[in-house]
Amino acid sequence: MKEPVDHILRPELPWRTGGGITECGYDASKVPTLTRDEYSIRLKGLGRQRAALLTCMTCADTATRWGTWDDDPRKALEREIAWECRWGRNNDRGVRLRDELVALAALAEAHSTEFRAHIDHTEKQRAWIEMKQGGKDISATRRTRGGL
Ligand SMILES: [Zn+2]
Repeated sequence: MKEPVDHILRPELPWRTGGGITECGYDASKVPTLTRDEYSIRLKGLGRQRAALLTCMTCADTATRWGTWDDDPRKALEREIAWECRWGRNNDRGVRLRDELVALAALAEAHSTEFRAHIDHTEKQRAWIEMKQGGKDISATRRTRGGL
């Protein structure tokens, strides 16, 4: 009989708390889990082959293919949308995602001045960083996808 393995928690969108799932799609409350950072430490400590004995390889593979919100919010949303809408899914998580996006748009509209100010601030920060780096493409300095 195969020993149970640890699954890797899927990084959540920043407005979500609890109710997480694993990278391979299990309800995280029903299986043993570890974070991506904990898996990274395991990988460094044990090496790839020994870590594979203790960790779900679907999770490990999936974690390397998808970035987090901190890596690039567009990629994190792309993943959630692809996962929740694939094969015509209309499950609770997919409905929740749709409701969250509608709520975000409503909040942006209700607080349009703050919303625009936040975007302006981010653009100014990016311009300043690019100027400090002498016009280099700053995307090359960011973490690699998946952060592993
Ligand atoms: Zn898994």
